[in-house]
Amino acid sequence: MIDGKAISKEIKASVAAEVEKLKAMGITPGLAVVLVGNDPASRTYVTNKEKDCASVGIYSEEYALPETTTQKELLELVQTLNSKKTINGILVQLPLPAGLNEEEVIKTINPLKDVDAFHPENVGRIMIGNCRFLPCTPAGIMELLHHEGISPEGKRCVVIGRSNIVGKPMAMLLLHANGTVTICHSKTRGLKEICREADILVAAVGKPKFVTADMVKPGAVVIDVGMDRDENGKLCGDVDFANVESIASYITPVPGGVGPMTRAMLLKNTITAAKIQNGMDVI
Ligand code: NAP
Repeated sequence: MIDGKAISKEIKASVAAEVEKLKAMGITPGLAVVLVGNDPASRTYVTNKEKDCASVGIYSEEYALPETTTQKELLELVQTLNSKKTINGILVQLPLPAGLNEEEVIKTINPLKDVDAFHPENVGRIMIGNCRFLPCTPAGIMELLHHEGISPEGKRCVVIGRSNIVGKPMAMLLLHANGTVTICHSKTRGLKEICREADILVAAVGKPKFVTADMVKPGAVVIDVGMDRDENGKLCGDVDFANVESIASYITPVPGGVGPMTRAMLLKNTITAAKIQNGMDVI
């Protein structure tokens, strides 16, 4: 089992050390988190992000706006944050309430402050393999693989899901790491057979226990991105963990797998943003 919680702690410790160094140079990395509306899951994510910032010494500001916020008001806030010197990273928690145009909001964020890497400029950079900010969830997964000494090079990698947040950038990072990548989605034919070819199988579907044992090749590495609820309302992943665990060589649990890594990568991106905005080299 790949322990994402433990690995994320190591990353957070290294981020905290970097924050210390930056502070010694007079730079305090700052993140603004914008939440619109009352979605309870989004509220939890935002609170966790703020706690994470505090735990590594990153300054954070929260902007909780009512459900009735207009597009104009939201864009004005983003523009204010774009020019605010103490803020290096801007994160607008998605999804936005109905009626607000997410694409326009993302495009308004200064690409140099776009720590989620959702701005078209940063998405383009991910595509060409010259990332400024790494997309948090896929980058967290690459860190997990790296930590376990698993190289995608030459391997058959199958990603189930093609969202802009997870599936597509995940496929790109695996491709850049020389994996041979197949992306599956709801219109894919022969999904089970394709999945059974995977040396590395990433499930980002959003359906509880979707990946069953008969979809997994013995010895495969199985990465579960899903954050779902089972029939009893308990948090679970996209993978039928109980039955897949014994077949896979490595598997991530839910909770405690990909989730904590996503959070850690946001902190890393905030440090990167602070460095870029202060003219420092970013490696
Ligand atoms: P999403 O935007 O809803 O995308 C789901 C993808 O799954 C779509 O591409 C969809 O295909 C595909 N899909 C749906 N049913 C399918 C089926 N029967 N067969 C094959 N593919 C199917 O979701 P997302 O934002 O990528 O998130 C996926 C999951 O990861 C969710 O549970 C989410 O909560 C979780 N998540 C976790 C983290 C974390 O840090 N752990 C971060 C982000 C998301 P179509 O494109 O054809 O509709």
